[in-house]
Amino acid sequence: MKYCPDSPKDLGFTVDSWWTGQQESIDLILTEFINNGKKYVMLGAPTGCGKTLIASAVQRLLAKHALGRASLVLTHTIGLQKQYQKTLVDAAVVTGRGNHLCELSEDSDYRIGTDSKNPLTAEDAPCVEGPCPEDMKGPGGCGYYRQWWIAARSPMTIMNYAYAARVLQQPYYKDGETTIPNPFRRDLLVADECHLAHDALVQAANLTLWGGSLARANIQIPSLVTRVETTEGGPRSQKTVLRESVPVWIDWATAQLQPLRRQVGDLAQQFDSLARSKARGAVEARTRLKRAQSLLDSLTALSKIANPNEWIIRRDLTFDKKIRSITIEPLWGWSVAGDMVFKHFQRVLLMSATPGTPELERIKLGLPKDEFVYIERPSTFKRENRPVYFWPIAKLSYTSTDADWERIAKAIGWIATRPEHLQRKGLVHSGSKANADRLVKLLDRYLGGRRAFSHGDGHSHSRESALEEFTTSDEPRILVTASFTTGLDLPYIIGWQVIAKVPFASLGDEITARRKAFKLNGYDFGAKAYTADTANTVVQAAGRIVRAPDDTGPTYILDGNWEIVKQQAYLPAWFLDAYQVFRVE
Ligand code: SF4
Repeated sequence: MKYCPDSPKDLGFTVDSWWTGQQESIDLILTEFINNGKKYVMLGAPTGCGKTLIASAVQRLLAKHALGRASLVLTHTIGLQKQYQKTLVDAAVVTGRGNHLCELSEDSDYRIGTDSKNPLTAEDAPCVEGPCPEDMKGPGGCGYYRQWWIAARSPMTIMNYAYAARVLQQPYYKDGETTIPNPFRRDLLVADECHLAHDALVQAANLTLWGGSLARANIQIPSLVTRVETTEGGPRSQKTVLRESVPVWIDWATAQLQPLRRQVGDLAQQFDSLARSKARGAVEARTRLKRAQSLLDSLTALSKIANPNEWIIRRDLTFDKKIRSITIEPLWGWSVAGDMVFKHFQRVLLMSATPGTPELERIKLGLPKDEFVYIERPSTFKRENRPVYFWPIAKLSYTSTDADWERIAKAIGWIATRPEHLQRKGLVHSGSKANADRLVKLLDRYLGGRRAFSHGDGHSHSRESALEEFTTSDEPRILVTASFTTGLDLPYIIGWQVIAKVPFASLGDEITARRKAFKLNGYDFGAKAYTADTANTVVQAAGRIVRAPDDTGPTYILDGNWEIVKQQAYLPAWFLDAYQVFRVE
């Protein structure tokens, strides 16, 4: 169906013409929303497709068809938020309380708990729990609320995933004396960089019980003997480990609720009387109350977990074996994403250059199959400008030998010293910091006088300063790093890049190991998702190099493990059309 007008100006945009493919993308999305009745459209659109304008046009065309006036856009980076504001002058960014100072007057009795070094932010302001003592919660109020109300009234509001997960929970807000429905529950949700949405929502749903709060409330946690034996790993790496029993923790949390509610009530009374009499100690009383209330909220949420086998509980101990914190985390986004975010919208547009394996992402986020569709768009950049070469030099793992790594370093040296690469900067993705350190040392011998560099402990650069040096240096620098497979947008800077090691997530991390071992109705869902995430990280890394239509540069994958990952995972057509096995002539 044709929905998109011939010119962006017809939709009120300031740009004169559409980029290649934008009209088609907009029509495809609207056809799914309007004609096919889908609630969830996932758009896989590589760099250069102009996703910001596509999302904005979809919103305006839905409004034109009386299918929704306003949208909420979720992004991860300030850079993307600014890009939306540049494209759409009436888009409004709203940021969390921690980014704004509380503007209570200097002599306000309510400015407790602050000094000149630690100014009071809106995060710790009295209005978090109640009204603003100086009545500044409205549209003409303090800085935090001014931007909040501008965003609430803007047709397109932009915020990050964590903040959205918080503000969307409340069904109503107060506008002066009037109660209004939550202004951020809208017709259209745009989940940008949707490959990060799953982890962001899981993170937002995490509960933390702090050791200090438990000790102050005199609460003993379940003993270590309540842990249960669990078998994890594949046929060759199977092992039995002790894991926390979620049902035990749920019963434990339920038993704590009543006494803790009484404590919170007592602390609230203490704070009230100290604050009313402006007595010393009000600050500490308020802190104690906030911590106890936060503990009560977390224990209440823990007691309500309905699907214990899909949650993971971890104890973080101090060096002298005391409890620093207990974290309670959903294994998968499907346990929380719908209630936290998606159910508050009529339609959801998920967008990314690298959305991952669409069917697995759909399941991970709990999106119903019959309401979901995936649309993939081709790259508008010429394939000969962005070749991806698979050159299997060695299969790298923790058992790899020095000789394996030597061969990898030699191959990187060969690539770096090609005549066409000698004067261009190179980026080497190492998979881990330890691998980066090892490669920097080995590469000395193979770079014909050029020096590779890395960052972090043992290096003269931090991550940020290494990137600054790489970006601004006049020399053809070679950066070896595990940190920039995603989020790097440096048009014309990177001349060539190498994926030295396929970046499998570490199975030493408990949640990664538990996810990988997870079976869904007997199907190896976790293992599939693990491979798919690895493949997607490689696709993301390959996308770092060519960032503009006339930008050029090859990517070389040297780790032989890529072969099996490629066979098992979904890869977008724009990646595959530039992909070839490399042979040295
Ligand atoms: S509403 Fe009042 S208490 Fe809250 S952050 Fe603004 S000035 Fe501070």
